[in-house]
Amino acid sequence: MSERIPATNIPVKDRGSDAAPSGIFPRSFKGFYRNLRIAGGTLLFGLYFATVWLTWEGRQAVLWDISNRQFHIFGATFWPQDLTLLTAGLVICAFGLFFITVLAGRIWCGYSCPQSMWTWLFLWVERMTEGDRNQRMRLAQAPWSLNKVLKRSQKHTLWLLISLLTGLTFVGYFTPIRPLVADLLTFSSGASAAFWVFFFTAATYINAGWLREKVCLHMCPYGRFQSVMIDDDSLVISYDANRGDPRGHRKRTVSPASQGLGDCIDCYQCVQVCPTGIDIRDGLQIDCIGCAACIDACDSIMDRMGYDRGLIRYASQRQLSGGPMRLFRPRMVGYAAVLVTMIGALVWGVANRPMVALEVAKDRSLFRYNDVGQIENSYRLKLLNKAPEARQFELSAIGLDGLTLEAPETLTLDGGETRELAVVVSAPPESLDDVSSDVHFVVADLDNPDHRDERRSAFTGPAF
Ligand code: SF4
Ligand code: SF4
Repeated sequence: MSERIPATNIPVKDRGSDAAPSGIFPRSFKGFYRNLRIAGGTLLFGLYFATVWLTWEGRQAVLWDISNRQFHIFGATFWPQDLTLLTAGLVICAFGLFFITVLAGRIWCGYSCPQSMWTWLFLWVERMTEGDRNQRMRLAQAPWSLNKVLKRSQKHTLWLLISLLTGLTFVGYFTPIRPLVADLLTFSSGASAAFWVFFFTAATYINAGWLREKVCLHMCPYGRFQSVMIDDDSLVISYDANRGDPRGHRKRTVSPASQGLGDCIDCYQCVQVCPTGIDIRDGLQIDCIGCAACIDACDSIMDRMGYDRGLIRYASQRQLSGGPMRLFRPRMVGYAAVLVTMIGALVWGVANRPMVALEVAKDRSLFRYNDVGQIENSYRLKLLNKAPEARQFELSAIGLDGLTLEAPETLTLDGGETRELAVVVSAPPESLDDVSSDVHFVVADLDNPDHRDERRSAFTGPAF
């Protein structure tokens, strides 16, 4: 049984030399994991910014149409009645995050979390406009001058442009993007759309430009509960103290063993590239977002020194203690099985969801007798054709002997149409054995009876 391992919360004042409270200036670096993140980030940014412009069957391919209460995604339309599917999708995402955290720590934070990805993009802009770490630190301390104003203006202008594009794209997933852009360019958009574009522009600018790692450290709850998820078999970014300690400076030509040293040359490169300003050599910490920048930095130092790579690497606590790597442990296999089952159930649910929905509301009046002595109850029905094309439906009521429904036998509803109907249901008094009985309304697609919806309501009669 794997044991959970704690993630330490090291106060800023007790961290390595680089964690100045006045700000963090990550150094640029190169390496395999950086390339991996750039490739993944390019794909994710491309998906985010491009998908909103795609058209599918004459309509925006992905659109959460709030005013019409519909969610369109590549030709499929979901309605509020499909909320259970959305909920199931969110549960799967949460469980998937749980699964990958147990497997490989905060890999989500490091490679795909929007906060991280936009922060890396903003950091890249900062580096392009103000220079690398030392230049940025000097600029931060320098008094205001024309040069400083120019550099800062360039940076903030680019940040604002990226933020505007981000905000506009985000709002474009909720209101059709083409008319939105046209309206904004001609100053004819509604106040609501303009407000939300401004809001998400400001949120991006503040979060990725100013707050950066503070969102991860103080606002995101995920980092706080990672320590209860990862165990001693989880692959987390770790410093191999057995190999690296004792740390110390030495010449490249000198054998560390002859100096009584480990492989860590105490260069602080791993600290200087860290976007949260921590020293991974202090052990697994809550503030580590798993970005692997320290691995790339340390590997480049190991290359320069002629040592083996991997002083900082993905490793489990068991491996660091000399044990084997155990990726496929029973816990992980169980989680994977549950995840695959849930995804399968969701796919089945989406493929087989009924394309018709029915709501039933009973009239406030209790009951009445009709001309032939039967008991009548009145209801209001709301039918929704969730299919994009017109469909013919049959309406019926069941549940009591001799039940009669006064309503059109068949109804044709256009694609996406909602129709309200007032109907009367009558039943002979002898079929009732209580003051309230169950009655079921059924609506079924005439061409495909599997697409049906059934709702229960009460049928009231006299007290016996
Ligand atoms: S310690 Fe390493 S992996 Fe963790 S946030 Fe810092 S650079 Fe990224
Ligand atoms: S980059 Fe590697 S060698 Fe340099 S301080 Fe960090 S762990 Fe030690």
